[in-house]
Amino acid sequence: AAKEYGKNTFVYFNNSINEKLMEKIQTQSELRKAIENNEFMVFYQPQMDLQTDRIVGFEALIRWNHPEKGIIPPGEFISLAEETGLIVPIGTWVLQEACYQLKQWEDMGYTNLIVAVNISVRQFKDQDFVQMVKTVVEETGVNPSCLELEITETIALQDMEYTISIIEKLREMGVVFSLDDFGTGYSSMSYLKRLPVNNLKIDKSFLDTVLDSRSDQSIVKTIISLAQTLDLTVIAEGVEKDEQGLFLKKAKCNKAQGYLYSKPLPKEEAEEFLKKV
Ligand code: C2E
Ligand code: MG
Ligand code: MG
Ligand code: MG
Repeated sequence: AAKEYGKNTFVYFNNSINEKLMEKIQTQSELRKAIENNEFMVFYQPQMDLQTDRIVGFEALIRWNHPEKGIIPPGEFISLAEETGLIVPIGTWVLQEACYQLKQWEDMGYTNLIVAVNISVRQFKDQDFVQMVKTVVEETGVNPSCLELEITETIALQDMEYTISIIEKLREMGVVFSLDDFGTGYSSMSYLKRLPVNNLKIDKSFLDTVLDSRSDQSIVKTIISLAQTLDLTVIAEGVEKDEQGLFLKKAKCNKAQGYLYSKPLPKEEAEEFLKKV
């Protein structure tokens, strides 16, 4: 009986692994075709200046418009894209699309508008990364100082010297850097001091609790003053409530992004927002 049971378990286990694996292989081949089939879209989420209440830029966020499943958020495919290396061509596509859009807005007269693009570890470590960014900037003709690249602590921590050299090369061109999801990784003061980024993005998790207690408020205030000490600008992400926005404004946070101001929008709606605010 024990043998029987063991056998069944094995078969069951095996099937569920197969199913997962098949699904992964399926998604992988669909991802591969998604670029050619033009299934990716970039949405744009407004970033607001807290002192003036005006829009100062957008974060570019990828969406996959799947032919059968509809719009799929990045949380459901970015890690697979990263695992397979497909994030490299996908990321290049996002940068091209975002810069092409930024150039159109620049030509409409929005010459100070910033567009921020997320860069994954695999992309950043790609040996052609610097050249790729240079080429996209040149081909689209955007002002490089209006292009912001968002990296995470994971990138920074892997090889500090290499990370610094890549950031410095792109900053020489004028490109701006943000440290995304700040506070969720292994951030230490000493490495933050060495990292030549321009902005800190306070992770949404800190905003979620900021109205709960004084200690949660102190944490956010401490991050803001840390940024100021290091001459970095600071942006809060995931701001949903009026009171959160008000708190941040009082705490002299520079910018904010979140559903309170706007969800990520397709480019046409982003442009409407730009004209309004
Ligand atoms: P992220 O870079 O930290 O982007 C912020 C995420 O928070 C976005 O989710 C945004 O829609 C969401 N968000 C903004 N404000 C609010 C709010 O007030 N409430 C709530 N509940 N959520 C808010 P999204 O678009 O699903 O993207 C998730 C993550 O996927 C991003 O986190 C980023 O790490 C990654 N990602 C998105 N686009 C790209 C891309 O083009 N390339 C790479 N490598 N990663 C990307
Ligand atoms: Mg981001
Ligand atoms: Mg973030
Ligand atoms: Mg995040």
